[in-house]
Amino acid sequence: MSSAPAFQPVLQRIAQEIAQSPGRGRPADYIPALAACDPNRFGMAVAELDGTVYGVGDWRQPFSTQSISKVFTLALDLAHEADALWEHVGREPSGNPFNSLVQLEYENGIPRNPFINAGALVVTDRLHTQTGDASGTLLDFLRAESGNAELAVNQDVAGSEAAHGDRNAALGHFMAAYGNIGNPVPVLLDEYFRQCSVEASCADLALATGFLARHGVRADGTRLLTQRQAKQVNAVMLTCGTYDAAGEFAYRVGLPGKSGVGGGVIAVVPGRCTLCAWSPGLDEHGNSVAGVTALDRFTTLTGLSVF
Ligand code: GLU
Repeated sequence: MSSAPAFQPVLQRIAQEIAQSPGRGRPADYIPALAACDPNRFGMAVAELDGTVYGVGDWRQPFSTQSISKVFTLALDLAHEADALWEHVGREPSGNPFNSLVQLEYENGIPRNPFINAGALVVTDRLHTQTGDASGTLLDFLRAESGNAELAVNQDVAGSEAAHGDRNAALGHFMAAYGNIGNPVPVLLDEYFRQCSVEASCADLALATGFLARHGVRADGTRLLTQRQAKQVNAVMLTCGTYDAAGEFAYRVGLPGKSGVGGGVIAVVPGRCTLCAWSPGLDEHGNSVAGVTALDRFTTLTGLSVF
C-alpha cells in the first residue's frame, strides 16, 4: 500500500459533511442480529486498481455484507457457467421490493434479476451445483481479493436469518416448484444465509470489488471474467443493484453500485477505482442513507462517474 494521499482529502471532507448531516435512517430490524447496529457509525474506503487503499472513519470495521455478496456470487457463477445462467434469471429491474413474491408467479419462477432475493437464490443454487460449496467459494474469493484471510461468516447473523427466513424459504420452494432450483431448498437456504452473513470491512470490500474496475482481472493478474462479462455485471449493478431505488442511485451517484441491508454500499469507477461506504441506518428501500450520500458526494467532488 502506498501512502500517497490522492483520495484522502476528499474522503475526509465527506466524513466531515456526513458527521454534520442529520437523519441517518434505521438499521434493518427484520434480521434481529442487525437491529442493534449504531446508525451513527460511518466508514468509507477507496481502492485503486493496484490495491492502494484510502479510508476514513470506520473503514476497517467489519460489518454484515448481506446483499453486497450477490455481486460476487454472480461473478463467480458466470466464471463457471457463463451465459447458461441467463436462462434461469433475468436482468431487468424489478420495480418491486427485494424480497417480493408476486412477480415470480407471473413470470413462471424466473426471477427478474440476480440481485433481488429470488434471483440471488438461483445464482447461489447454481454456484453450489458448480462448486459443491457456494459460500466457501465466495469466502475464498473475498479473502484472496482483499488479502484478508480473517474474513468469515458471522454464525449469529446466519442463525438469525435462518430463524426469520420464512420469506426466503417461500421464494426457494416456489422456484423449486417451477424446476428452477437444483439443490434441496434447505441446503440452498443454508448456503444463502451463510453468504449474506459474511462480515467484511469497507477496505476489504473495496479491494474485493477491484476486478470489476479492472474489466474482469483479479488482484493477482489472472482473469475471473471476460471484459464483456465484467461490463455486463457492472450494467446489472447500475440498473438493479440498489433495490427499487436503482434509478435514484444512478441519478445521484452515477456509478454501478450494490447495497446490502447491513448498511454497506459498493460502487465501481471502471478503469479507475472501487468504493465502499458503510453506515447501518437505511432508508425505506433498504439503502444506507449516509452510504449513498457519501458516494453521491464522492462522484460530485471528484467528477469520477460513468457519465
Ligand atoms: N440476507 C438478506 C435477506 O435475504 C439480504 C437482504 C439484503 O441485503 O438485501 O433478506
